[in-house]
Amino acid sequence: MNKEEFQKSTENLRKAVPLMIKNQVPTTPTNYALWYTYVDEAQPELNLELDKIVTEYGLCPPSSCEYLYKHFIADKAETDVQELRSNLEILVNEIFMSMKDTLANTQDFQDMLDKHLGSLEQVDRESVSFEEVIGLLQNFVSESHEIKNSTHFFHQQLNNASKEITELKQQLEKVQKDALYDSLSSLLNRGAFDRDLATMCQADKQKLPLCLILLDIDRFKDLNDKFGHVFGDMVIKAIAKRLQLGCREGITAYRYGGEEFALLVPNKSLRSAIQFADSIRRSIEKISIKDKRTGEQVENISASFGVAELNEGEQPINLIDNADQQLYQAKSLGRNRVMPV
Ligand code: GH3
Ligand code: MG
Ligand code: MG
Repeated sequence: MNKEEFQKSTENLRKAVPLMIKNQVPTTPTNYALWYTYVDEAQPELNLELDKIVTEYGLCPPSSCEYLYKHFIADKAETDVQELRSNLEILVNEIFMSMKDTLANTQDFQDMLDKHLGSLEQVDRESVSFEEVIGLLQNFVSESHEIKNSTHFFHQQLNNASKEITELKQQLEKVQKDALYDSLSSLLNRGAFDRDLATMCQADKQKLPLCLILLDIDRFKDLNDKFGHVFGDMVIKAIAKRLQLGCREGITAYRYGGEEFALLVPNKSLRSAIQFADSIRRSIEKISIKDKRTGEQVENISASFGVAELNEGEQPINLIDNADQQLYQAKSLGRNRVMPV
């Protein structure tokens, strides 16, 4: 076989397989011989018939393949088996190269290659029939497809799994967030406060100074009664926003109860914490909210503050009690003030 013939055979092989896949033709030895002859264009009558069938059905039905094979191929044993065999090796090599790129490092693919290249070496050594060689190729191609599909499937599974993980993570984050935050004010909730304070008060972790500021909206019941509950909620949100804005230097704000808030203030003396509380008090005084029902701007919003500092070895309950007592003082002295002064 000269170089030109060799190239032509290789080209035919390369054309035949995709055509068979496109026309949903099973890669059986007879079909392979049929489509090889078709792309070789050595028998124009075969090409005419096959084209007619494909045009009519959109693919090549098995019965038609069988008929065409019997009619055009079976009795013409002209195909050069030797030529085919050597070209099969080239084809296999080509598939190998292209698959290697897409499926690098796939152990399954390596195993399959070893198996098939081994079989092809056998072809060289022993006299193997044309049918058997085609069979080997067929196995190789179909297993390659299988592995390609399974790799695709694997990738899909991975994608699905990572999507699922992302969704679960988002759900988990939401649940965790819901458990920590108060939905009305968006501040950390009472549970978070209890936990954070407990951690900060642990004997081995106590970092002093640590102050607690408790604040309670003044005459909030009156505001609710006069302007409605929705308005009351807007007041809570507005105050929460001021607190959040004031949270610098490690200060954390919590919604402690209905209209009560807490601020944990680390690394500040009682004096500094009182000053900080008073700045918050003044910023709350400045709040002005429109009553949508009457159009009136409501401005007389205020809160009272109690501040306490954690003493060494003290429990959270002591700190809360001390701050609460100061808050009570602030209320009884006329509200809108910080205690101690
Ligand atoms: P004081 O100055 O002594 O604190 O008077 P006050 O009216 O603020 O105190 P009181 O404890 O009598 O009333 C608190 C009110 O806060 C009663 C309750 O209906 C209201 N409240 C608690 N939580 C909410 C809430 O989430 N939204 C609204 N709109 N009102 C709330
Ligand atoms: Mg209260
Ligand atoms: Mg109150």
